[in-house]
Amino acid sequence: TYVVTENCIACKYTDCVEVCPVDCFYEGENTLVIHPDECIDCGVCEPECPADAIRPDTEPGMEGWVEFNRKYSEIW
Ligand code: SF4
Repeated sequence: TYVVTENCIACKYTDCVEVCPVDCFYEGENTLVIHPDECIDCGVCEPECPADAIRPDTEPGMEGWVEFNRKYSEIW
């Protein structure tokens, strides 16, 4: 699973949403988020993000962002 991280805050780009093959981006309070159960881990969005905000959840220190993405994607 990929996760949206802090560089997304108040970012106005939606390049990631346009390339995601499964439409698993959702709107959070001030970021987009990726639904962890819908993301198919394709990695297509990561290089498309102009703010460099998308990271694989396997990177160190991502635990908080994993929770953040899950929380805001399940509101809808
Ligand atoms: Fe969508 Fe693929 Fe990015 Fe997951 S890794 S959010 S499926 S584009």
